[in-house]
Amino acid sequence: MPTLIDNTRPPMPPNSKGKAQARAAVSAAARAKGRGDARGGLYKPREPIYPKLVHGRWRTIKWALLIATLAIYYVTPWIRWARPGDLPRQAVLVDFTGRRFYFFDIQLWPQEVYIFTGLMIMGALALFLVTALFGRLWCGYTCPQTVWTDLYIVVERLFEGDRNARMRLDGQPLSLDKAWRKSGKHLTWLAIAFGTGGAWIFYFHDAPTLIRTFWTGQAPLTAYVSCALLTATTYGFAGWMREQVCTYMCPWPRIQGAMLDEHSLQVTYLRDRGEPRGAHKKNRDWAGRGDCIDCKQCVVVCPMGIDIRDGSQLECINCGLCVDACDEILGKLGRPIGLIAYDTDAAVARRARGQAAVYKPVRARTLYYALALVLVSGLTLWGLLARPKVDLHVIRDRNPIFVRMHDGAVRDGYTLKISNRTFFDQRFVIAFDGVAGVRLGRPGGAADPGVVLAPADQVVSVRVFVTAPADAALAASTPVRFVIASGAARAEAKTVFLSGAENPQ
Ligand code: SF4
Ligand code: SF4
Repeated sequence: MPTLIDNTRPPMPPNSKGKAQARAAVSAAARAKGRGDARGGLYKPREPIYPKLVHGRWRTIKWALLIATLAIYYVTPWIRWARPGDLPRQAVLVDFTGRRFYFFDIQLWPQEVYIFTGLMIMGALALFLVTALFGRLWCGYTCPQTVWTDLYIVVERLFEGDRNARMRLDGQPLSLDKAWRKSGKHLTWLAIAFGTGGAWIFYFHDAPTLIRTFWTGQAPLTAYVSCALLTATTYGFAGWMREQVCTYMCPWPRIQGAMLDEHSLQVTYLRDRGEPRGAHKKNRDWAGRGDCIDCKQCVVVCPMGIDIRDGSQLECINCGLCVDACDEILGKLGRPIGLIAYDTDAAVARRARGQAAVYKPVRARTLYYALALVLVSGLTLWGLLARPKVDLHVIRDRNPIFVRMHDGAVRDGYTLKISNRTFFDQRFVIAFDGVAGVRLGRPGGAADPGVVLAPADQVVSVRVFVTAPADAALAASTPVRFVIASGAARAEAKTVFLSGAENPQ
């Protein structure tokens, strides 16, 4: 793993006071490092990273995605959706108590967990495909760790200023100014973390009800525990640990290596164009040197604290901020932009040989991923559309397995479990098929034993007795089936009718 760049050194301190403070910040970091070494710790102390604000195309896209993803996360539980009867009015709800998952007009039952499995496989395959094509775009733009860290850095800038100001502040002794800035930042971070944990629990309960009961102490214990856990992890991960989560805790940087090849787009420093690097004086000729002026702006904007000019690195999340930083510098110098760019190893190698770059989005691995994604998406969609709205399960009595009546008739008992997955009540007519002349009955002598009312979104369980006349042609075990029907809704289940014909009692 490459050594982290010393990102604590301010590039151009604005004045002598700034220089002194920046030196103090660096000394403080060095002392901290020294203490860590002296203690003989197993791990290198974290070197603080102060990413500088940058403007440009990729930063704008990141802002847009940050707003979109946060809006989706915070707003979704508050979307209301009309459903009949007492069913929840929340558009997206994981209802553990009612054992249902609601997603607008889609409602999933626990036994339909295969749909979730399909969705998770689709998500994984989509991630594989995007990574094979564009590298770690997920990490750089939409991963929650990236999004919340970006948001926390916005708050940090608000209270402490941009990179140089933050470095100066960290190098200063404690003062009233430093205290209010630091405490303001941490309180705002905690408020965001609490809002994040708070939004999470609304996905599992009716949001308007929960927000009332939460403050009066009447919400379920799981809501308080989940909120506390999410608050702590958001504050810790986005506020304190930041790039360390990506580099040391997340398995994805290691796994993604299996999806990348020389044709995957990655943020790349075009060494052939940039080298030999070095400071450049105004009005000097560019002949015999590269376009990189070694200004290190690509380093100081990097949220991972690395220097992309060292080549492809595990820490790089492909966020493109160094591209924006370098483009800005080259634009000011009047040089062509794109010294750092989304590029492929294959294109770099071809240009080095004097050949034109070729991009190959269609290749064996992207085809496999795309085909697998289409296949799993198709199967999941089919599973979703073809799943029955009504389901029937039959459990036959085990003890006694049949009863021979005083007139020679044989009676078997069954329990019918009818799942009505529609949003309206249904009146089902029960039919029995396989033995002629049978009579249906129910415990307690129901007036209409062949009819069952199944309320919307419920499972009803009914006991049914089937009595075959004494003269019925019965085997010891006769295959039979129950059929329930309500208009076009229909379901059937096979079972057997036992009579003990070979062993009459
Ligand atoms: S921003 Fe561009 S010019 Fe400046 S050091 Fe980085 S690669 Fe070189
Ligand atoms: S090297 Fe560039 S693309 Fe990679 S993490 Fe740093 S700023 Fe983002």
